[in-house]
Amino acid sequence: MSASSEKYEAVIGLEVHAQLLTRSKIFCGCSTEFGAPPNTHVCPVCCGMPGVLPVFNRRVLELAIRMGLAAHCTIAPRSIFDRKNYFYPDLPKGYQISQYETPLCKGGYIELPGDGDNGGPTRIRLVRIHLEEDAGKNIHAPDCSLVDFNRSGVPLTEIVSEPDIRTPEQAGAYLRELRSMLRYLEVSDGNMEEGSFRCDANVSVRPRGSDSLGVKTEVKNMNSFRHVEHAIAYEIERQIELLEAGERVVQETRLWDPDRGVTRPMRSKEYAHDYRYFPEPDLPPLIVPPDLVEQIRIAMPELPAARRARYTSEMGLTPYEANVLTQEREIADYFEAVLPGLKNRKAAANWVMTEVLRVVNESGRGVAQSVPAPAEVGSLLKMVEDGAISLNAAKTAFAAMCKSGKNAKATVSELGLLQVSDEAAIAAACDEVICAEPAKVAEYRGGRDKLFGFFVGQVMKAMGGKANPKIINEVLRRKLAAS
Ligand SMILES: [Zn+2]
Repeated sequence: MSASSEKYEAVIGLEVHAQLLTRSKIFCGCSTEFGAPPNTHVCPVCCGMPGVLPVFNRRVLELAIRMGLAAHCTIAPRSIFDRKNYFYPDLPKGYQISQYETPLCKGGYIELPGDGDNGGPTRIRLVRIHLEEDAGKNIHAPDCSLVDFNRSGVPLTEIVSEPDIRTPEQAGAYLRELRSMLRYLEVSDGNMEEGSFRCDANVSVRPRGSDSLGVKTEVKNMNSFRHVEHAIAYEIERQIELLEAGERVVQETRLWDPDRGVTRPMRSKEYAHDYRYFPEPDLPPLIVPPDLVEQIRIAMPELPAARRARYTSEMGLTPYEANVLTQEREIADYFEAVLPGLKNRKAAANWVMTEVLRVVNESGRGVAQSVPAPAEVGSLLKMVEDGAISLNAAKTAFAAMCKSGKNAKATVSELGLLQVSDEAAIAAACDEVICAEPAKVAEYRGGRDKLFGFFVGQVMKAMGGKANPKIINEVLRRKLAAS
């Protein structure tokens, strides 16, 4: 951090658009499937033809309420759709149906995981979560511009945070938590590359300790968590440099250019009154019966924050371990299914964080398609606990199981990985080594403790690397001590 950045603090608020996991669009029956040929999932409603009427997809309501409850929001019993008017080629109606003054969800907060260093979790308050329809997509070819309306009318929630975020890293942590929650809840797939999880950042800076807000810019076009963090960091530095040079920050929308690593101006920021919001006359108010909210509340899954708390308090995992294991529900479920019958939960956590996650990430496929069933990993780890195989042998077996799909017992015996724990056999090997190395034995007994490792290695070698190291240690210590 430069000296001038010490003088300032950043104030960051994030707006996230998450596509809801419905099969059909928000106001018509067209499919929401990603990747279809352009303009094949369209109808007069989502193309904004005159005389058509929108019909609200109730599934959208359920999904949005689920997210609202998870984020501790107040669910409005009555909310209203509004028209947000603007002209753009990807918006054939000339307005977007959204929610303005009376959104579905108000208030609430997202709890960020603590990493153990900065203490407990941090709460980022939310302003609101509202519903809206997506616009189409402009495609700019060299000599013309094209519009694809497949995305037009796809249901979105917009999740708006208070400007509670202070650093780019915190913005990244907030987005990861939000995405993780949406995926746990099966509200959105959170896929940034396919545009079903998009983020705009409002960034301003002010002298540290000040209560007033500086002039903010809105940064768009960030397609990964890393882009968001880089773009915000760049924007903070840019604004500080302007202020330090005695210039002003201009309120505007800026685009992140990932190739050059800079933000550049796109257009001057619209104010709300530019959109001439008014209530959508073609849709009735959105009424949410209290028993619907209760029904949804009862069916909520355990969320990442609750799981993290359980892993640290009940299992003694570190906040870092709990965070890694709970980011994806699939991984957390897998981890818990490995545990039955195991004493050492820390070892199981380590195994899932390293071996399992590595294979899953390298394969680019789902957990079920890339690693053995959790019970098989459990049985492998049980063999380690019981001293039947070494940790290294377990790694060899696991790699083989990922390829062959065979179970743990069969793999361990096929590869001959079982450890010799027979004390008599180990004692015989120890005697041989001690007889063969009289000089080293004398040195050891004369006080060169470091030689102990040498003897362990020799015995292990004599036994083809398959002896139980714990037993070798015990027997060797006894035999070497006796002179
Ligand atoms: Zn349609």
